[in-house]
Amino acid sequence: MDQQLTPEMKAQIVEWDKKHVWHHITQHAPFEEQAPLIMSSGKGEYIWDVNGNRYLDASSGGVWCVNVGYGRERIANVIKEQAMRLNFFAGTAGSPIMAEFANKLIEKMPGMSRVYFSNSGSEANEKAYKIVRQIAHKKYGGKKHKILYRERDYHGTTITCLSSTGQEERRQQYGPFTPGFVEFPHCCEYRSQFEDSDNYGIKAAQLLEEVILREGPETVGAIVIEPITAGGGVITPPEGYYQEVQRICNKYNILIHVDEVVCGVGRTGSWFGYQHYGLKPDIVTMAKGVASAYAAISCTVTTEAVFDLFKQDPSDKFDYFRDISTFGGCTIGPAAALENMKIIEEEGLVENAAHVGEYLKTQLEVLQTQFTIIGDVRGKGLFIGLELVEDRETKLPVDESVLAQFSAKCMQHGLLVGRTNRSFSSLNNTICLSPPLTLSMEQADEIVAIMAKVFHQL
Ligand code: PLP
Repeated sequence: MDQQLTPEMKAQIVEWDKKHVWHHITQHAPFEEQAPLIMSSGKGEYIWDVNGNRYLDASSGGVWCVNVGYGRERIANVIKEQAMRLNFFAGTAGSPIMAEFANKLIEKMPGMSRVYFSNSGSEANEKAYKIVRQIAHKKYGGKKHKILYRERDYHGTTITCLSSTGQEERRQQYGPFTPGFVEFPHCCEYRSQFEDSDNYGIKAAQLLEEVILREGPETVGAIVIEPITAGGGVITPPEGYYQEVQRICNKYNILIHVDEVVCGVGRTGSWFGYQHYGLKPDIVTMAKGVASAYAAISCTVTTEAVFDLFKQDPSDKFDYFRDISTFGGCTIGPAAALENMKIIEEEGLVENAAHVGEYLKTQLEVLQTQFTIIGDVRGKGLFIGLELVEDRETKLPVDESVLAQFSAKCMQHGLLVGRTNRSFSSLNNTICLSPPLTLSMEQADEIVAIMAKVFHQL
């Protein structure tokens, strides 16, 4: 619903914004001459800016968050009720709503057992890294402390999360980084590291094994992976890849930490991305879609086996997980998250993501036959990427300015899309689509029609 603002109110908001708000990952110099983008309201799959322009939001809030769409009164109501009942107590104590949500979440994650609450994807990942480090100290005399992360994956914005992020431009100017994090090669088949295309999934996983052997398996405690790489270019794993990754990690006694911050809670057409591939994680982190961004909540979920390691010797004053997140004790997060899950279940949104996502991907593949600039279409559920190239034969990536132009033109036609942005020195060339899981077939057609128009204009 468009929020009605008078011209005076609009002018005032723009002035205050220009004067006092520091926008995320944004160069502010152009705001000397042009107004910044200011969003003011949303309903369903649509969002309105302060000037009353309406957009079909195929980015779920710019960064893959609003899984159940905008303006959900049910979630607003439970937030209000919970805030009035008890807004907060430190996470050293439990609360009824945390217990109820944790129980509901674990129902969707067979094999997992314990939920640790915090506020952002980065924080959830930091908790996981601390768990791995503490296990290294408790069980292996500090030796098995290294965490391997994959080239092209992103795990967050703090220095340690950047230390485990395989995107060189994201890391630029923020070093020195936390020691003990080591990169292993990506698994993007379209950008295969091998001449021979046979068995790419197995060969790509074996690149991980090479790094483990180089570092020494006795020094490696865990790997961290996105089930489908998000900001690094919507990279779906090749056939057989994760089975081989699982085999390798089992062989060397290495924990698997799956970062579901983007893929989690229905986005890919299953509750969690790893569930498509038969992976058995030891730790799963999640954030964005957990409460569809109606409240800031993230979770670090572990198996009971991992949890058990933290209660073995009560006489040891360091035996337990000595971590706290102040706002991890806020109760509106789990209240919103529980209602979010109920909506997803009642409306069949995981199934809708699978069904409409498959349709959208097929329609985008048709577009690929018409526009040679589309080098690759990949994704799962309502999480799809289009890699743009100058030339299909050489796969030379288009410059990121082409994507900036593409998304700006989509906006002019009332469509918001995402894109890889200042992440790599040469591969900022993927358009990302991640609409709310409520997307209809007609809206999928609308997305494709607008994109076709814009590809014609490029
Ligand atoms: N992990 C992944 C895969 C992400 O895409 C992000 C953010 O985009 C994060 C972690 C960090 O989440 P947050 O920005 O909530 O700290």
